[in-house]
Amino acid sequence: MSESLDLLIKLHLDGERQGPGSDAITKQAIDILGYDKNIHLNILDVGCGTGAQTIALSESLNCNIIAVDIFEEFLKALKIRSRERKVGDKIKTITCSMDEMSFAKDSFNIIWSEGAIYNIGFENGLNQWREFLKIGGYIAVSEITWITNKRPEQIQSHWVNEYPEIKTASEKIAIIEKLGFQFVGAITLPEYTWEEMYYMPMEARFKQFLTNYPGDESKRLIKNEMKEMKLYRKFKNYYSYVFYIMRKVEQ
Ligand code: SAH
Repeated sequence: MSESLDLLIKLHLDGERQGPGSDAITKQAIDILGYDKNIHLNILDVGCGTGAQTIALSESLNCNIIAVDIFEEFLKALKIRSRERKVGDKIKTITCSMDEMSFAKDSFNIIWSEGAIYNIGFENGLNQWREFLKIGGYIAVSEITWITNKRPEQIQSHWVNEYPEIKTASEKIAIIEKLGFQFVGAITLPEYTWEEMYYMPMEARFKQFLTNYPGDESKRLIKNEMKEMKLYRKFKNYYSYVFYIMRKVEQ
């Protein structure tokens, strides 16, 4: 593993979450699915990180969850947390890339993925994961999205460079429908899910991180994170994560 990747994992390992989100938003998305507690569900959580949403799902639904991430360190942290929260027996972890998963067809009632599908692309990810979903099952994914039709050039070029698939919600919904899913609902993540839940706790860890891991790579990493935060604080009216909920229907 490269030094910069190792440091990136170390910086994010101590976070409650590795991207914008909140338990309240996860539960709001769960409510849209309308499942009764009597029904047992098989859930796949893709790019789970240290598992904030995995635990929220396990506490809200009668379920078993397979949580997948490419980094074992995050999955270890999830295991410790899930035992502490007394949901360890509901959660199984698998270290695997999200584009190399091999589950049987029609395995899951729900496929969940918060702030992670961008790693293989929104359209590609939905297309690949669909076969693992039962007919009538749901996919809920959060994805970076333009939340206005026009935006300043500085933020436009930054994001197009970072993630060319960034689009408006109406364009994302058109992709969902093109792939043959039924579009069920969407939630735009509010500012506190970025600030209070993600950036501020991360900022609070910077000083200790630089003490623990001195060196140029650490400084570069923190500088990058600060640049991203600064852009968010300046341009937050133009982009956010949006949770998209869709259903697999008979074609
Ligand atoms: N769902 C968590 C983590 C989001 S950050 C949360 O919302 O807090 C994105 C996650 O995707 C990280 O945990 C990262 O390790 C994971 N990831 C990155 N590339 C991946 C890949 N190819 N396959 C599986 N997981 C991946």
